Amino acid sequence: MAKQLDFEKDMVKLPYANLMLEITRKCNLECAHCMRGEAQNIDMPDKILETVFNQVEQIYHLSLTGGEPFLAPQTIEKMVDTIIENNIYLWRCTTVENGTILDNRGIRCINALNRLGEYIYNSVWNEKTKKNLDEKPPVTVSVSNSKYHNNNTRKALSFYKLYANQYLAIDDQGEWETGLKDKQGNPLKNKDIKGNGKIWLKKQGRAENFLNAKYTSHLYRVDFWLNKDENKACVNTSVEICSNGNVIPAEPLSFKTMDSKNMGNVLNEPISCMIYRWNWNQPLDKTEVMQYCNNMELLENPKLPDKKRGELTLLNSYIDSKKTLLVAGHKDYPYLSRNDLYTAAIATLILMWCKMLKNTEPDITEEDIIELLITREFTGNYTKKFTIQDLKKIVDNIVAKHNRLVIKNQGVFEYLKYRIELSTHDVKYYNNLKISTYD
Ligand code: SF4
Repeated sequence: MAKQLDFEKDMVKLPYANLMLEITRKCNLECAHCMRGEAQNIDMPDKILETVFNQVEQIYHLSLTGGEPFLAPQTIEKMVDTIIENNIYLWRCTTVENGTILDNRGIRCINALNRLGEYIYNSVWNEKTKKNLDEKPPVTVSVSNSKYHNNNTRKALSFYKLYANQYLAIDDQGEWETGLKDKQGNPLKNKDIKGNGKIWLKKQGRAENFLNAKYTSHLYRVDFWLNKDENKACVNTSVEICSNGNVIPAEPLSFKTMDSKNMGNVLNEPISCMIYRWNWNQPLDKTEVMQYCNNMELLENPKLPDKKRGELTLLNSYIDSKKTLLVAGHKDYPYLSRNDLYTAAIATLILMWCKMLKNTEPDITEEDIIELLITREFTGNYTKKFTIQDLKKIVDNIVAKHNRLVIKNQGVFEYLKYRIELSTHDVKYYNNLKISTYD
């Protein structure tokens, strides 16, 4: 009989939609907006590269980041060797570099990436892809183009093009399409939005105190995409391996943030085990966490009308409560499956919300609240109208299903109730719980 996998200890080779490698933390520029912060003297060691590529089943898109990746040609060469030697199923590789490494180090990186492109084209791509005229070469090097980078983009493009082969595209990052439009409806390119940082700068690294920088967070769960044809779960959330081996969901974060809050380190445990554990501790999805960050920003506006402020505060309080319930619920009831825990937690949360809003918002009916929250949480799964009794039954059924183990106390549900009754952001309370959506 096949051995039952223990996801906390056994390594499972995973396919990744997007894997990011932080090649180095060195950098020769000091851009004012740099969200990584101060450069560090670290290149990704061979051991980490080997460990990572031993654990991947396939990668659709590999992106190389830094620091400045072209400052570590030996790491890029080793990475390419490791991918080719292990016959890794890699579909595409991209990197953005700052356009200032116009010497032998840059040439070595281009040569290594030429080899990688040739390998992907000849050993991975199928005939259909090769014949598709819209398909870009398998590897792309883009050169930064913004007012913050002290470089000569045009000169760098010409230099790299001299050495690139047919499997490697060299492009200008400023020319990228963003999918955004200006007020007249004209498409905006990357260089058009690089001006004041209003859209893209985050409060991280040297950008932390920029007026326009926004909150961001990587404290969300790693989602999987089920490939039914191959019966495989593919990691859909973009995952980054830092040059010191720390693993995080990829976001524009400072080295300091990545080192203080991460899933773990590849030198200590398999990535699949880290993801398994992380998802119990970070159960919210990315959209929800980004909505929370966005609300934090809106709440900082002193001119925000009181009604709006109240709504946003309540929404963030709901998200905090949901996270608290799921995280602490797992600690109190570790035998509950993710589905059972989620269903019980949400049903309980809705019951509490009904009770709380009854006092503060007498015009809203319980049915409205239930419908709103059920739709928010289980879109598409529930078509019938739910009543308070239905929700109580959901919780009771889950408790009954596990009745031999079900406990002892009302643990998490009780303090959640307390939290929701407060219904404001009480920082001290959260510090004590040590659980928050945005740290
Ligand atoms: S933005 Fe890029 S090039 Fe500029 S300092 Fe940061 S890592 Fe270096």
